Amino acid sequence: MASSVGKVELRTLGNTGLKLSCVGFGASPLGNVFGPVSEDDAIASVRQAFRLGINFFDTSPYYGGTLSEKVLGKSLKALGVPRNEYIVSTKCGRYAEGFDFSADRVTRSIDESLARLQLDYVDILQCHDIEFGSLDQIVNETIPALQKLKEAGKIRFIGITGLPLGIFTYVLDRVPPGTVDVILSYCHYSINDSTLDDLIPYLKSKGVGVISASPLAMGLLTESGPPEWHPASSELKSVCKAAAAYSKEKGKNISKLALQYSLSNKDISSVLVGMNSIRQVEENVSAAIELANNGKDEETLSEVEAILEPVKNQTWPSGIQQS
Ligand code: NAD
Repeated sequence: MASSVGKVELRTLGNTGLKLSCVGFGASPLGNVFGPVSEDDAIASVRQAFRLGINFFDTSPYYGGTLSEKVLGKSLKALGVPRNEYIVSTKCGRYAEGFDFSADRVTRSIDESLARLQLDYVDILQCHDIEFGSLDQIVNETIPALQKLKEAGKIRFIGITGLPLGIFTYVLDRVPPGTVDVILSYCHYSINDSTLDDLIPYLKSKGVGVISASPLAMGLLTESGPPEWHPASSELKSVCKAAAAYSKEKGKNISKLALQYSLSNKDISSVLVGMNSIRQVEENVSAAIELANNGKDEETLSEVEAILEPVKNQTWPSGIQQS
């Protein structure tokens, strides 16, 4: 059992001074994004995560049309611990109704999020999936609005998220240094796609903290496979399925292998995994502790990498074309 062998490592996030658990709790499953999760299971998962040293929880008003924020808020309150013992990030600009990165909308959005989360402030507020908006609006309007929220004490740090890696350099090249504290990239640092690695020296040079989400490639690198809505090509899905089947046959768990792969890169401050049960929390914390104690399973990893080679770094389109 994970609790008997220690807690997960903390890593500093860029220049923020925040020390995040290297395994972060992705709360999109609490919005029923990967299938139904009862409130009791959600509360129990968050409690067990916190007990085992996970101090970082990520959500968005978009996940489950605000459900994830509400359930996470209730779960954090149920912990009954001082507010400064956990770190919360949420997002703005993406909603069940669509995208709106206007200053007016994101300014209202934080108040709505704080009410749902039952918090006075969030540690990080991130512009959610900015490739669906105008990047110039993000630079000239959204981020300045978030700076005002920072001054008002409603948020501590500012972030941007999205899939195509070029969005990060576009924005970071155009804002004053220190304005954007953190980026959240997803599906670009897992066994099948490690392209985030190329961006890390640039992010470090800007003093920007790095969060990497979806180490299991949103379900591709799990034994049960991805949800219906998963945007990968059928080729990518079938090769990942073959890799999962190979690992299982060998008595190894593909999800553990995948999480350990992501966690091995220490330039990534936190790897956000979506979790919806005590079992998944314990498995993921154990994977991190085992990695710290014994290193990766290099043999199985190289076999799985060989299976995934034909689709290595294959991604999918996301967002609107920028002019
Ligand atoms: P993920 O790769 O973490 O996969 C989640 C899926 O894997 C879920 O079905 C989960 O139940 C399952 N899982 C978790 N642990 C497992 C285990 N040990 N064994 C088997 N299955 C396991 O994908 P994700 O949830 O999309 O990403 C993690 C988090 O990162 C999200 O919840 C969200 O907070 C964040 N995120 C943000 C963005 C963005 O800002 N644009 C995009 C993607 C993810």
